[in-house]
Amino acid sequence: MLIDLRSDTVTRPSPAMLDFMFKAKVGDDVFGEDPTVNLLETKVAAMFGMEAALFVPSGTMSNQIAVNVHCRPGDEVICDINSHIYQYEGGGLAANSGVQVKLLEGNRGRISAEMVKNAVNGNFDWLTKSTLVVVENTCNKAGGSVYSLENLKELSTFCKQANLKFHLDGARIFNALAAQNLKAENLKGIFDSISVCLSKGLGSPVGSVLLGSKEFITQARRVRKRWGGGMRQAGYLAAAGIFSLDNNMERLKEDHLNAQKIKASLERKSFVKEVLPVETNIVIFRLTEELSVSAFLKHLESKEMKAIQFGYDTVRMITHLDISAESVEKVCNELQLM
Ligand SMILES: *Cc1c(COP(=O)(O)O)cnc(C)c1O
Repeated sequence: MLIDLRSDTVTRPSPAMLDFMFKAKVGDDVFGEDPTVNLLETKVAAMFGMEAALFVPSGTMSNQIAVNVHCRPGDEVICDINSHIYQYEGGGLAANSGVQVKLLEGNRGRISAEMVKNAVNGNFDWLTKSTLVVVENTCNKAGGSVYSLENLKELSTFCKQANLKFHLDGARIFNALAAQNLKAENLKGIFDSISVCLSKGLGSPVGSVLLGSKEFITQARRVRKRWGGGMRQAGYLAAAGIFSLDNNMERLKEDHLNAQKIKASLERKSFVKEVLPVETNIVIFRLTEELSVSAFLKHLESKEMKAIQFGYDTVRMITHLDISAESVEKVCNELQLM
């Protein structure tokens, strides 16, 4: 059986999840009448101590809606250069909202209040208006790095003081929380908006949830509709989200342990130049001249294993719900033999 380490989005719904989805009570969510969507939104908002929530088709739409509601065309978004919102959303910041980006070079994807303080523009006609700060936790491109709660609180305090909005791209926020033994409620009061993915570590087939104040979500709902993201009997998909929150959260630490095992195996190989620190379920590593990424991936594929190229000499492996401890052992054994 294929061991697919390319992404934590490749998981398939389990029979139990499908059964739960099948039994969902549904209605027309554009009319606000889908009880299962409403339940999911209430549930996630309560978990994070936010006022309101909106179920959306993807993490990209969730982030992009947040930017669109927080900013006006010509405004500036401040974020780390590794941010998904800048790297992997098809230029959406410019195309969807007409905003500029000011990129910071943080510590493996993590920016600090001090850095934002130095980057933010003063209030002059001729300067771009700094409006929004975005952080990503965990940060994918930086190897699944985790923000400390203290760092986030400092950023939040500065943003409030400087009249900046503060958005969390929390596609993998549950991995970050698991790594620190924190709960979602520990983030209460820190952010103006939060985007949470159900289709990454939690193993739902589809969906993200955007969180914010009632006023923010009212506006977000309008943008979702405008962009074609208003879904009708979406309760079948929301049910998967509810199931994944109730059943797949506790096990995230197993993914982190499995990632550590892969890291240890990689570090023993002469063809591996560098493995980024592994804090959660993401392992990013660079190969030496000795072995090209394409040759490495081809070899893995011949053993029914998949990873993904993540730069010229760089590879990413992600552990997830469909990667068992036995699969990890197979991968480690295969690396051993190479
Ligand atoms: C995957 C991801 C997203 C977007 O999710 P999609 O559902 O694939 O659009 C946003 N931010 C981060 C950090 C991600 O890893």
